[in-house]
Amino acid sequence: MKNEMKLEFDSISANEAFARVTVAAFMAQMNPSMEEVADVKTAVSEAVTNAIIHGYQGEIHKITISGRIEEQQLQLEIADQGVGIQDIKKAMEPLYTSRPELERSGMGFLFMEAFMDEIQVSSKPGEGTVVVMKKMIGQHGA
Ligand code: ATP
Ligand code: MG
Repeated sequence: MKNEMKLEFDSISANEAFARVTVAAFMAQMNPSMEEVADVKTAVSEAVTNAIIHGYQGEIHKITISGRIEEQQLQLEIADQGVGIQDIKKAMEPLYTSRPELERSGMGFLFMEAFMDEIQVSSKPGEGTVVVMKKMIGQHGA
């Protein structure tokens, strides 16, 4: 089975819930466990929050989520056209945050890595950030 979707929404915090619920609905056809749905929702929340807070720094612009189901694999691509990331390796280090004054804890990428099978970040300063996450779903037996 192959299925694709694309979602575009404004970078306002009310849309964090919209994004994670919509992705949960999209993956429902994969026969996921409750835990898999919770894992993906957490990862989506972290990526969307990052786009809102860091990418657009509170300005309202578009965030897109491209979702793709291919057999048992779910792939999500979460993109913003915000400020981008200078040093991706450093940004992905556990507990690194560029915004300690906002009481961020630098755990977002760690959660995405823990809850998904694979995550890839590409970014260019001034152009934006794309986070690609993959996870095998629904392999828990009938
Ligand atoms: P937390 O997620 O725990 O609230 P955090 O957002 O700072 O804290 P991460 O989600 O791990 O931690 O992100 C680490 C850093 O990577 C951020 O502090 C920020 O500098 C950078 N970053 C992450 N996503 C983006 C993005 N979409 N655009 C620009 N910078 C980003
Ligand atoms: Mg974060």
